[in-house]
Amino acid sequence: MAKKIPMRMCVSCRERFAKKDLIRVVATPDGQTVIDPTGRMAGRGAYVCHDPECMKKALDRKQFDKGLKTKVDLETIRPELEKLSETQENSGAGAETGDVGKNKKSEDAK
Ligand SMILES: [Zn+2]
Repeated sequence: MAKKIPMRMCVSCRERFAKKDLIRVVATPDGQTVIDPTGRMAGRGAYVCHDPECMKKALDRKQFDKGLKTKVDLETIRPELEKLSETQENSGAGAETGDVGKNKKSEDAK
């Protein structure tokens, strides 16, 4: 049962985490930069851990620009990251309420 966990590095603190424990920011082929909650979008990815400090530093120091080798639209991803850092605090208690997550996704799609 040797399960291989893909490890990725946080662009801010440079620690390694399981890929699923990181937030992926993707530079899509059409030049957009977006948060990729599924981890499956096409494009070059950079990762940040769930530490709010790391998210802040990554934005302030333009670590995503470096990691993605492109100009990142911080105004797009900053509020997304802030949203994620908030939901993270509730994730322990609400792990089984899948409906909540579905509602959020339909909002984001607009
Ligand atoms: Zn970090």
